[in-house]
Order: sequence, then C-alpha cells, then structure tokens
Amino acid sequence: MDGTFKIVGEPFTREGQLMTPTDTFAFCFTLSIIHVIACFGLFVLLPWVVDEYKIGLTKKILHISAVIFLYSNVMMNFWKVLTTDTSSGSAVLPIFLQPGWKFCASCEANSPPRAFHCHICRHCVLKRDHHCPFTGNCIGNTNYRFYIQMIFYFWVASVYANIMTFAFTWSILGEFSLYNLFRLVLPLLSCLLGQTDLYTFAVCVLSIMSIVGCMLLVALLSFHLGNVVRGQTTFERSHRVHTYGLGLEQNIKSVFGERWRYAWLFPSINSPLPGDGITFLTKESLEKPKDL
Ligand SMILES: [Zn+2]
Ligand SMILES: [Zn+2]
Repeated sequence: MDGTFKIVGEPFTREGQLMTPTDTFAFCFTLSIIHVIACFGLFVLLPWVVDEYKIGLTKKILHISAVIFLYSNVMMNFWKVLTTDTSSGSAVLPIFLQPGWKFCASCEANSPPRAFHCHICRHCVLKRDHHCPFTGNCIGNTNYRFYIQMIFYFWVASVYANIMTFAFTWSILGEFSLYNLFRLVLPLLSCLLGQTDLYTFAVCVLSIMSIVGCMLLVALLSFHLGNVVRGQTTFERSHRVHTYGLGLEQNIKSVFGERWRYAWLFPSINSPLPGDGITFLTKESLEKPKDL
C-alpha cells in the first residue's frame, strides 16, 4: 500500500545538534592531545633521535613519513566519525510498527531494529553503539569503521611515541635509579620538592600520559574488535544478544564494508557496507535455507 510509508528524517546537518559541556571538554582534549603528541614527536623527539643515533637521510624521511601517515589517518578518521550521518537520513521508514521495530517518541517515527535515540545528537542512530564525547558524535552503523580505525592508528602512534619517548626521557633523567624512577612516576611532587625542573616535569608528564594512553587505547580497541568479531553492538554485548552474529567474515564486512581487507588502511578508501542499516540479516535467517 502506498500509504504505509513516509519519509522520515532531514538531510544530515549538525545544526541543532547539542554539544554538552562534557562533549566540548572531551572533544577539545582529544584534538589537543593528538596535536601535542604529533608536535612533540616531530619537533622534539625526532631531532633528538637523529642526533643521538646519527641516523641517515633515508631513515629520517621514513620516520617523518610514518608520523605524517599516522597523524593524517587519526585526523581523517576523526573527521569521518564527526561528519558521517549516523541517522536514517532520507530513508523511507514504515508507518506501521514491524517486528523488532519500536516507536521513538522524540523523533515521532518508527525506529528500526538496533537503532536507539540519542538525546545529544537528537535523532535515532542506526545500529547505535554509543555516544562518543571525544568526537562529539554517536557511533553507529555508518561510522563504526572510522571510529575503530581512529583508535587503531592512535594506538599505533602511541606505541611509536612510547618507544621514542622512553629513551628520550631516560636521557634527560639520567641513569636508572629509584630516585629517577620517583621523578618519572611522580613528576608534580618531584617538581614541588625542587628535584625536577619544568622541562623535565613536562617530559615526564608526556611520558606517563603516553604509557597510560597506550594502555587505555589497547583496552578500548580490544573491546570494540571483540564487538566486531561477535557481530554485536555494545548494548547487544551487555544484554547477550547474539541475533546478528553471521560468522567472522560477514561480521567484519558489516563494519568495514565489502573491501574490508584494505579499507582499514585509509578512511578515504570506499568500502560500501553490505546492508542499509535499517534491515539486518540474522543468524536464524541464514540458517533457515539449510533446514529446507
Ligand atoms: Zn529517535
Ligand atoms: Zn549521540
């Protein structure tokens, strides 16, 4: 019937989308930390490595290329997470509730399976995972790939920075001793006691932040890769919903798209998702033909 459908949603715009104080703080923090690490790596660590290890031009170019590649990947994925439309956009949604669908009072429209309303983004997010304050946007069907890639490249960058920072920090602190370990682990106290100058304090803080950041990123990455492997969102994982687990390859495709084998290399690589984010294949629907 023609009358059973209506068009829901406007073309995607960030106008009217709220940024809570938490979002604003987390968003600014993320952007600041990315640029502090990139600048520190490029303008402080790299010149030191070049001097200390007397590395040649080729290796120097390789290091600079690595920093630029990691930086652009983190920033491009960040941009994609921020600007990708996570709503149903101009999709045609049914007026009458269908199995698995629910009515969203805020949108005044029926909401497809796996979609949830976000009161910060002010729309229903398809296959919603969570609202990410660090990027100021919801993570859902269309930008989960970019979110995971952003975490991945941020983690690689932090491992890279940690390797270089470790040697650099100890070259400033001096030989390994309990006293210098105290200066590294408790830089503020050490500075207040007059045992550390401001420059060493800043280097120690960055070093500690790199180590802690690296550990947090690996935990976050493991968690979300676990979601991908299982074919679940965070909500489905916590509620033990296994309906949409279609096997490893299909689960990966549902996040990274048809070109998943190399789509993770750069966010601009086009990799269409297998579904529309509104209707989903289920484990049961795949198993049915085998029973016939
Ligand atoms: Zn809604
Ligand atoms: Zn949101």
